[in-house]
Amino acid sequence: MVRLKVYKVAYLGSDSEAALAFEFALSKAGMRFVSATGDQSGVKKALEFNADIVLWDLDNNPQGKPIPLEQIRKAGLVKQPVAVVVSPDNVDGAIQSLAAGAVDFIYKQVRDDPLPRIVAALNVGQKQRRIDWCNRVIEDTNKQLHGILSTLKDPAYGVSPEYQILYMNRAAEEIFGEGLRGGACFHMFYDRTEPCEICDKSKGPARWRAVLKNGKSYRFISALIRNEKGEVEKIAVGTDVTPDEEVRKIHKTFISNVSHDLRTPLAAIDQYVNIMMDGLAGELTDEQRQCLDVIKRSSFRLGNIVENLIDASNILSGHFKLKTQVATVQEILDIVLDRLQSQAVDKGITLQVQVPDDLPLVYADKARMAQVIANIAGNSIKFTEQGMIQIRAGFMPRDGGRVIISVEDTGIGIPKEDLGKIFELFYRVENDNVYVEEGAGLGLAISREIARAHGGTLWTESLEGMGSAFHIALPIHEGQQATR
Ligand code: ADP
Repeated sequence: MVRLKVYKVAYLGSDSEAALAFEFALSKAGMRFVSATGDQSGVKKALEFNADIVLWDLDNNPQGKPIPLEQIRKAGLVKQPVAVVVSPDNVDGAIQSLAAGAVDFIYKQVRDDPLPRIVAALNVGQKQRRIDWCNRVIEDTNKQLHGILSTLKDPAYGVSPEYQILYMNRAAEEIFGEGLRGGACFHMFYDRTEPCEICDKSKGPARWRAVLKNGKSYRFISALIRNEKGEVEKIAVGTDVTPDEEVRKIHKTFISNVSHDLRTPLAAIDQYVNIMMDGLAGELTDEQRQCLDVIKRSSFRLGNIVENLIDASNILSGHFKLKTQVATVQEILDIVLDRLQSQAVDKGITLQVQVPDDLPLVYADKARMAQVIANIAGNSIKFTEQGMIQIRAGFMPRDGGRVIISVEDTGIGIPKEDLGKIFELFYRVENDNVYVEEGAGLGLAISREIARAHGGTLWTESLEGMGSAFHIALPIHEGQQATR
């Protein structure tokens, strides 16, 4: 037989026959029982008894009235589940009492053992208490969150899954206007007739940029919370990035113009070097051939930089489309290894890859993702003289499930003061003691944009002289959370 916990049960009422029936059934199961009157003094007695559950006889009330739960709570029984005891002809009272907050009802003058009903009521009561507690936590957290949002100088707002504005802070009201609650966010904020693509597609956290009604550019991030009414609310917070945006615009135009202007003369150089090397412009001496060889290699390197610049300019201006598909991390890493293995072997560095078999699938542009990882691992090879480079993948359940791909090296590391800047365009760490072939400082800026376009993040940690680790977090392909 299952042994039940020894519960303390208090019956508050004046039906001595019912009290006796309860006492008899409960004592048989080893439970403790007290009977008291259905008034203030009875409540006090139940409190002193430290009852786990209170059985309230509906006969205590005037005819037809349900359980006076509020008064019982006020009198001191604040947390105990309360079930009502009713005669079988008072079904109405029982139902109304449930609506008024009783956890269950138990019929009296019925020969059935009341114990199972009491234990069931206790369970419901405990569950209810847990739910109440969770609701209180949600309510407090939401109050705190809205408190914080209201003090922000940046715009913040909350919308329902149906795009209805639920909340706006002062800064948002200053930009969009007051009295917009209840309206559709896409209409009120962005003058659109339909939801914006980003919200339409992404049901989870999202990032986007927008020029708002005040003419300034903002970078928004949003997250989902459950508010105190149990509704899901999307909270969005914007940061004014107007100055960054202007610098970006200048950068973008500059990169785009310069790179396209360089492409044509480079193509001409390449073409004429080939003509000369083929002897079509006359016989060449060995020395001349060597010179042309150097020109060819240099123009090839310059060509690569120009192509990277064009790529960067397209990515930064949003002129690139991902060709996403369901993919395994392993197949992306296979492309990377194909590209980098010989480079690592030439340098005498081991490239080690570890991918668990049961890693969830990702939804990615395989070529672009391979470009990101090859960029990072290529840097690792460039900045590592001895040791090894490890590419590892793993699963992190947070944020709906993410796959983390990490590239770790035992190279020169990155000085602390440069760590925050290496993702900026053209940024390269100055290091007089280390010679590395030139790069344009574009790889990481491009890589971060590509990771972001996938809904992912790219970040780094490094210790100067010890090595670096770069991590990419990618959302897993939808619908796989449940299986993990
Ligand atoms: P680059 O083409 O110059 O490599 P990146 O944007 O890829 O451009 O990298 C920017 C700079 O970050 C590099 O020039 C280098 O100084 C630093 N860096 C990147 N990866 C590493 C690494 N694994 N170890 C040490 N330094 C690194």
